[in-house]
Amino acid sequence: MRLLIYSKALYASWVYYSPDRIAFDAGEGISTILGNKVFAIERIFLSHGHADHITGLIGLINIRNSGMGDTEKPLTVYYPEGNWRVAELIKYIEKTNRRLQYPLAWVPIAAGARIPLFSGQCDRYMEAFSTVHSPNEPSLGYNIIEQRRRLKAQYRDLSQEEILELVRAGRREEISESYEKRLFSYGGDSVALNPDDVQGTDILCHDCTFLTEEEREDYKHATLSEALEVALRAQVQEAFLALHISSRYKHRLKEIEEQLIREHPKLPFKVIFVPPGKLFRYE
Ligand SMILES: [Zn+2]
Ligand SMILES: [Zn+2]
Repeated sequence: MRLLIYSKALYASWVYYSPDRIAFDAGEGISTILGNKVFAIERIFLSHGHADHITGLIGLINIRNSGMGDTEKPLTVYYPEGNWRVAELIKYIEKTNRRLQYPLAWVPIAAGARIPLFSGQCDRYMEAFSTVHSPNEPSLGYNIIEQRRRLKAQYRDLSQEEILELVRAGRREEISESYEKRLFSYGGDSVALNPDDVQGTDILCHDCTFLTEEEREDYKHATLSEALEVALRAQVQEAFLALHISSRYKHRLKEIEEQLIREHPKLPFKVIFVPPGKLFRYE
């Protein structure tokens, strides 16, 4: 299991990305539903300070201190610098959790920040980018990026044997180059993301509060067609996950999904509607 997601517009949103033990947002229910997995989380990245994305932190921080698990494991929460709602919650949590057994760090970050993740042998880090959501309240989206190596273009037509020969001759560095691969992108519940910010990502989690254009309210979230356009322009490689869907579509998801496939029969990635109010797994 790579992802565990719970997302319902207005109510609660959170995503657990298990390869790097990261939670994106921490809406209500995160610790109740994750159970012992909350002890696995090492980092939490908050997109913004609306209640449906942060209220689960109160329970999670408390459970990590007194539940059945490693109560000394450090936890770091990253959040958009200057977000006053998050700042208020930090004050409350610090006041009411004076004797935590584990180190809890709050790290304000801005767009462009890169945080090393040190997972396994690969060089991975988190990159923050700015999103548009609520006036006077900074919000961020996040990319998990892996530093990889590949053959330089002029060597890609060589046979396996010829490449091995060059490597044996000590020319590995010379024939290869490093590049960055986006593995996962999370945009919170913002309006349509800038496709450049998530270009080439494997998995894109995009707000889809409104599945139909007619029901769009103010310019705060995204519609399905706006998000799909972002996914196409960003050349998403594997899957486009529609999150933060309004519960008004609960009984029409299948129908809207089928209609989308009919209208776009040859999409180069999977389209997945994360059902509002249900725990969703992505392998
Ligand atoms: Zn919001
Ligand atoms: Zn929200």
